[in-house]
This record gives sequence, C-alpha cells and structure tokens, in this order.
Amino acid sequence: MKETVLDRLLRYVKIDTQSDENSQTYPSTAKQFDLLNLLVKELKEIGASDVSIDKNGYVMATIPSNLPAPPEKGKSPVPTIGFISHVDTSPSASGTNVKPQVIEYKGGDVVLPGDPSIVLRVSENPELKRNIGKKIVTTDGTTLLGADDKAGLAIIMTTAQTLLNDSKIPHGAIRICFTPDEEVGAGTKYLDIKKLGADVAYTVDGDTPGELNKETFSANSAVITVHGRNIHPGSAKNIMVNSLRCMADVIARMPKDMSPETTEGYEPYIHPHTLKGEEEKTVLNILLRDFDTSGLDLLEKKLKSIIAEVQPLHPRARIELEVKETYRNMKEGVLKDPRITECMWEATKRSGMEPKWVPIRGGTDGSKLTAMGLPCPNIFTGGQNYHGKTEWASVWGMEKSVETCLNLVRVWVEKSR
Ligand SMILES: [Zn+2]
Repeated sequence: MKETVLDRLLRYVKIDTQSDENSQTYPSTAKQFDLLNLLVKELKEIGASDVSIDKNGYVMATIPSNLPAPPEKGKSPVPTIGFISHVDTSPSASGTNVKPQVIEYKGGDVVLPGDPSIVLRVSENPELKRNIGKKIVTTDGTTLLGADDKAGLAIIMTTAQTLLNDSKIPHGAIRICFTPDEEVGAGTKYLDIKKLGADVAYTVDGDTPGELNKETFSANSAVITVHGRNIHPGSAKNIMVNSLRCMADVIARMPKDMSPETTEGYEPYIHPHTLKGEEEKTVLNILLRDFDTSGLDLLEKKLKSIIAEVQPLHPRARIELEVKETYRNMKEGVLKDPRITECMWEATKRSGMEPKWVPIRGGTDGSKLTAMGLPCPNIFTGGQNYHGKTEWASVWGMEKSVETCLNLVRVWVEKSR
C-alpha cells in the first residue's frame, strides 16, 4: 500500500527525538534511535538497497539507477544525487507527546486546543493564505510539531517509494541519508561522505513552498576577554580594576544598526550573545556574520577599533580578542557546477511553483557538507515557524516538495545528456 507524505509525517512527529546541546554522547540523545531504526525498517520495506545504520545513528540507503549502464554512446554518466534530512527536533521546545492535528483550513486565525493562548495568526503567517481550502498540520499548542525536519524525512521517503514503484521516471543512482543532532550543530560530525558516495546532495530542510537556498552566512565567532583585578571593595581605591565596567564600555560601542534584531536579507551583523564575568575577569562571546566572507574581516576590524577606543578609558585592564572560523557560505562550492542549482530551479518550476532563492541567515548541514567537498543546497518542505509551539506544516507544500524532488532527479538526467 502506498502511504502519503501526510501519513508519514503524522507517524514520525509522534516519536520524541529532541536533541540535547549539553549532552556528551553521540547522538546527543539515545531516543533519536527510535526513529532512525524505524526508518531503516521502512526503507527495507519499500525496497531500497544497501540500507544501513552505523553506531552514530547515520542511516543510508540507495535507490539504484534505472538508466542503461554503461551510459549510451555519447552520453555522460548521471551524477549520484543525495537527499538528506535530520531526525532530531530542536531543544528550544518540548518534543514529548506531540499531538498533531490535521485541519481543513478555511481561513482566519487558528486557536490551538491544548493551550488557547497559542494562536496561529494570519497577521504573522502570510503562508496561511495559500492554504485556504487545503489541509494543514498543527500542534495542540503544548509542544513543537517537528516538521523540522520530519517533513523532510516524509518527503524523502515518499519520493523514494514513488521512484521504486514507478519505473517511468528516469533517474540516476540516488543516495538517502538521515542524520541525528542537526539542531545541536552536530548533524555532520561523523557523517562519512565517502560512504554516502553522492556527487551532489540536497538537504530537504527548508520551509516556504518554492523557496530554495544556495547561500548561507559565512560565520566567525569572537571572544573578548577583559582581565581586571579584584580586591575587597572596602580597600579597593586605586587598586581594583573592574573588568565588568570595561566590558560594558565595549558592548555599548557595538553598532546597534548591525545586530540581528535590526538587520535582514543580506545585511551582516555583530551579535554579542553570552556574557560571563566578575571584577577579575569578564568574557563576552560574539557572533560575526556576513554573506561575503571578506566582510568578516571588516567586522573583526570594527571590534578591534572598539577595543582601541575603550582601552585608554581603562588603562590597567587588559583586553584580549580571539576570532575563530565557524562555517562558510556554501555559495562558492554549490556554484562550482551550475547544474546543481539550475536543476533545482527547473524542478521547482515544473512543479507549478514560482521558485525563489532565499539567503539563509544561519548555517545548515549543507554548508558544512559543501565545505567538506559535497555541494549541498536546500529545498523547501512546506513547514513554518520552526522550533516553537506555533509550528505548522502545509500538506500541499509537502506534496509540492515531493513533486520537486521527483522532477529534480528527472531534470538531472536531462541536463546530463
Ligand atoms: Zn531542520
């Protein structure tokens, strides 16, 4: 029996797979295996080949090519395409006892039954409009939904089953990969890209239908440390150097028009996010983000000039700056072979959608994989409002994503000839 993408989503979201950023194990929570092992079983049931799971939880499988091998005379081999999604859900909201509801959406705000203070508002959800008269999936208001990225799992599984059942869609070899721990930044930590063996991959982990991502921020992290001197406040005159006061002067000089809360689109930012300190020593962690990697140098220069300005105000404090690379914009790697983005654009159009490139103001597993040598842009899933109780998914959007994945493998065959 052929299951729909909705059937699958509803089954997967009921399995608690929340990851944990404070864990020392890999995957960060053992319960992620509940879903990873289920996916292994389901991949075998639908007839995928080489189904495997390793000790870190990475699930892989193959849908063999249905093209003549070796390629017909004058035709080049079609690249092996990977589809990737993650099983874990965000630590920012509970993923225990998720009660998905399928609603025939008729318009207007949607009050969630488990907590009437949680409302999907039309004013905050422009995507609701496109779903009038269609089915959407919401939570009951007490947990997240987990469409991020169980919609991706459901879309890839449905795509796989369709390809295995319908020999009329020509496609090269396809590799499937499901990962743990994406939400805690470790989705690719032990991912063996040689074993995956794809020439190009697509994460199915976006949101709004039609939106495609080939660009992420380039990211550095900076740490400013101020060393002061502590002594009992009663006898502190001319001896104490309060590192907190010095750091306050540093933070006050950070440009307010260059912060996450005042920027969007391609605008860069400097974001102080964690501050720990006492008189003796204060440490500030900062995110530096720019789509243009060379722009990160300018952000670092800005920090240096702030420090140069503050230092004379606190001559006995010592201010240190350390900057480290976090991840890089995937654009360069993804554009090495123009077919990678051309095919996803064309596939989206053929699904009756208006494709649109949207820059991701963050990193993805795809940006890490691209840096590792496997170009990996991102495809929409139809989910919205990730990481919170107002998360919802458009069934139509998920179906469009399946259609896009099916078109994608077909377009790759055409573009390779
Ligand atoms: Zn995700």
